[in-house]
Amino acid sequence: MHALVTGGAGFLGSHLVRSLLQRQAQVTIWDNLHTGREKNFLAVRDQIDFHNADIRFTTPENAPTSRFGKFDVIFNLACPASPPHYQKDPVYTWETSVLGIHNMLRLSEMHGAKLLHASTSEVYGDPSVHPQPETYWGNVNTVGIRSCYDEGKRAAESICADYVRFKKQDVRLFRIFNTYGEYMHPDDGRVISNFCVAALKGEAVPVYGDGTQTRSFCYASDLIAGILALSDLPREKYDGPINLGNPSEFTIAELVGVLERVSGKKLAVKHFPLPADDPKVRRPVIERAQKILGWQPQVALEEGLKRTLAYFAGEI
Ligand code: UDP
Repeated sequence: MHALVTGGAGFLGSHLVRSLLQRQAQVTIWDNLHTGREKNFLAVRDQIDFHNADIRFTTPENAPTSRFGKFDVIFNLACPASPPHYQKDPVYTWETSVLGIHNMLRLSEMHGAKLLHASTSEVYGDPSVHPQPETYWGNVNTVGIRSCYDEGKRAAESICADYVRFKKQDVRLFRIFNTYGEYMHPDDGRVISNFCVAALKGEAVPVYGDGTQTRSFCYASDLIAGILALSDLPREKYDGPINLGNPSEFTIAELVGVLERVSGKKLAVKHFPLPADDPKVRRPVIERAQKILGWQPQVALEEGLKRTLAYFAGEI
């Protein structure tokens, strides 16, 4: 089995590449190192075929040839996913989401490959339904600072659905809820990396707003198990987007408490203004994944945070 992982040098891509190699897959990575890092795949460099490719402009016609030949499966993970990173260059984010998936759909058509696309809980926006099942259509500000990502990912879902409907292609969508773990960049900017780095440096942890907003945090290995289960699913059993995330919900203030227990340190908190359109709540309904994939997360937040803190200790 030959897998293409776009974004394979990024946080989740690095986990996925390793899991695929463990399954004896041949792996090609396309990554333009916009947020991904070469150091993330150095340890497996000899086993993979890496190309510095930008999916906005990599079409089936000009795509680099892999030494492993045609692709059997494409995992499209390329896109900045942390709010400060995806907002830094919103046009880039939109193009990566929209033009990128169009290129990957055409590529999968040409190779006869199955395509798994990384969508996001951001398609639900600031949800007015809680928790969020896949049947919820979302509450997204079309012109806000998050819309380059949210609407980009929504547009990507829509073209994927049309490739299934009109071209009968094998395209599967999964919606990733907040995920954390090893291979995150220390400057990633998301809450768990910011908190871990601050705690390790002995600095106050930055809480945006009053800390009453909630998120539900999934450890990376759990998420990858879900993606692989979706990839293994017989085609006829796929019936639309699947939420992948951990349904244990915490306020950001509670997250500080969990980190205090894990680090064994009393942490000072510094408050900053809440960014615009920051979702007030988020928790996945994962019944579809449980039923169709037989999947559910195994790693509790304390355990995952312990491992993640140890990883960041070696990074900073
Ligand atoms: N947040 C925070 N401190 C940080 C980074 C984020 O309090 O240093 C908050 C942020 O406002 C949001 C939640 O933590 O309510 C999760 O933010 P993150 O950027 O990790 O991901 P999001 O779920 O917003 O995409």
